Amino acid sequence: MGVNDEFDLIHQYFAPLAKGAPGAHGLLDDAATMAPSDGCELVVTMDTVVAGIHYLADETPSNIVAKLIGSNLSDLAAMGAFPRGFTLSCAWPQHIKTDDIAAFAHAMADWVDTYSFPLLGGDTVRTLGEGVFTVTAFGEAPVGRSLKRNGAKAGNDVFVTGTIGDGALGLLSAQGKLSMLSSDDQAYLADRYRIPQPRVFVGQSLVGCATACIDISDGLIQDLRHIARTSNARIELEIDTIPLSDAAKRATESNPEMMSLLLSGGDDYELAFTAPSAPSNVSVPITRIGRVVAGGSDVVLKAIDGSLVAVAKTGYNHFG
Ligand code: ADP
Ligand code: MG
Repeated sequence: MGVNDEFDLIHQYFAPLAKGAPGAHGLLDDAATMAPSDGCELVVTMDTVVAGIHYLADETPSNIVAKLIGSNLSDLAAMGAFPRGFTLSCAWPQHIKTDDIAAFAHAMADWVDTYSFPLLGGDTVRTLGEGVFTVTAFGEAPVGRSLKRNGAKAGNDVFVTGTIGDGALGLLSAQGKLSMLSSDDQAYLADRYRIPQPRVFVGQSLVGCATACIDISDGLIQDLRHIARTSNARIELEIDTIPLSDAAKRATESNPEMMSLLLSGGDDYELAFTAPSAPSNVSVPITRIGRVVAGGSDVVLKAIDGSLVAVAKTGYNHFG
């Protein structure tokens, strides 16, 4: 089959990813259908990835899929939503090969299976430029109880899942700029950048416990600032408590200036949230990194002696 027939392409590579979900209608109808489960409302999010901006221009199909699906699942996680399915828009570049499309669909199948997250529909076009891929992800959460950014209250603690800054270091590693680290550390960090591990199940378990939640895609400080602003509260972070992977610790030991990059760099896909107390029964490590206080709507960093620490750069901004 050539890549010339759009319908063959959808039938052969994408229809199997519908996994027989009733609302997908085998990807043969004009649109998908979907209703939330009893007592739930739909949670809808969209993320686009563009070659050269969200992933390196020569990235493999499997890593493009990881960023595309991972970032969308991370947004559902940040809302505390249970994933239901997604639609996919593919703008394939002129030079795309059938093998690359097959590899793309094959990689997507792993995500579909892991998260029981069927493909419900989409659109397929050609572009004269680089590849552009968009996913609209549908999830569901108990009516009125999804996690928002605006509920942080003075007296709450601030927590994060996993480790912070691996995404920013991973981009440097993928660009060959961390050669002072061991090859194991470089590979670990590059994978953390390339393959998000969205905290889907953690997000769901925070419903009813977290007062505000966000996923860290643009940098810890910048993303927490969204919570501070919408909640009209001040967030004080204790810099020494921010959890770093062993590889990130070694990177900061060799260059202490890395710390501000770790706090402002994107692509971690961890969750940051505020809550009156630490949640229990969460399947990944959670660390308290600060607190919410009244007055102001910004994020400040404190050293162990209580003095304020300046952060040079604040995070990724597509139009900055
Ligand atoms: P229309 O011309 O009516 O927009 P399309 O030819 O774009 O219809 O799509 C036909 C069917 O294939 C639809 O059910 C659509 O959801 C599905 N589809 C098209 N592209 C994709 C894709 N990339 N992934 C999943 N489903 C797709
Ligand atoms: Mg169409």
